[in-house]
Amino acid sequence: MPYTGETLDVTATLLRLNQAARDHGFSCVSLVDQAGIILPILTRPSTYSNAPRVYISTGMHGDEPAGPLMILDLLEREQFCPNIDWTLFPMLNPAGLRLNQRENHMGIDLNRDYLNPTTKEVIAHVNYIEEQEPWDLSLIIHEDWESDGFYLYDKPTDLTDGWAKTIVERVRKVCPIDLSEAIDKMSSSEGIISPRFENIKEDPKLKGQWPEAIYLFMTEKVRGSFTFEAPSSYDMPTRIKALETAILTSVELLSTAE
Ligand SMILES: [Zn+2]
Repeated sequence: MPYTGETLDVTATLLRLNQAARDHGFSCVSLVDQAGIILPILTRPSTYSNAPRVYISTGMHGDEPAGPLMILDLLEREQFCPNIDWTLFPMLNPAGLRLNQRENHMGIDLNRDYLNPTTKEVIAHVNYIEEQEPWDLSLIIHEDWESDGFYLYDKPTDLTDGWAKTIVERVRKVCPIDLSEAIDKMSSSEGIISPRFENIKEDPKLKGQWPEAIYLFMTEKVRGSFTFEAPSSYDMPTRIKALETAILTSVELLSTAE
């Protein structure tokens, strides 16, 4: 059974995102094609010099509405602190979100299109990323309708060593954690999956179909990275709270690490 929860009102959410972003000093760019908006991008440089750079992306899968709503809520409540250089991609797949389906309107899973991109959405995203300086941390937001709670993918790096446990401990206070020993065919412990690939280019699980997180890592665009998964069988406020807690904890850890 696929996700049967609420469909995101994409037009209304984009209007509110742009308004909230402008209200709090973010620049808003929307790369547009004939089919409509394909990639809204919100940026705000820090007022501090040498500030850490944080990348947040969500709305990659159209049946995962909590991520865009979480970004909107953080913006409206002014939770993006000024000591970080922010780049936000709040809706990587607006067409899929309108349809409440994982893939885009062409039926393509965008999160398998980052090795040799063919979709307009991913081509636009990758072209933008390639023009930017690297980020210190990428926080990639998804949802999983099959999970029994929140979990995360921890890409082990020197910068983020040990952070995953702290993030899970904080999220546990607002949302159950998926304690399964295997999630999505990968071994998991206390809600943490640490994927290890011997050779990413040859790995049969990736089959040449790179997700966003692997692309960012392989092109050395990020120093550290987490992917957060909210349980979409839970109510929306709990999912949003879980994701917000994970984001704010990561940023707090980054701020104290620098
Ligand atoms: Zn997803």
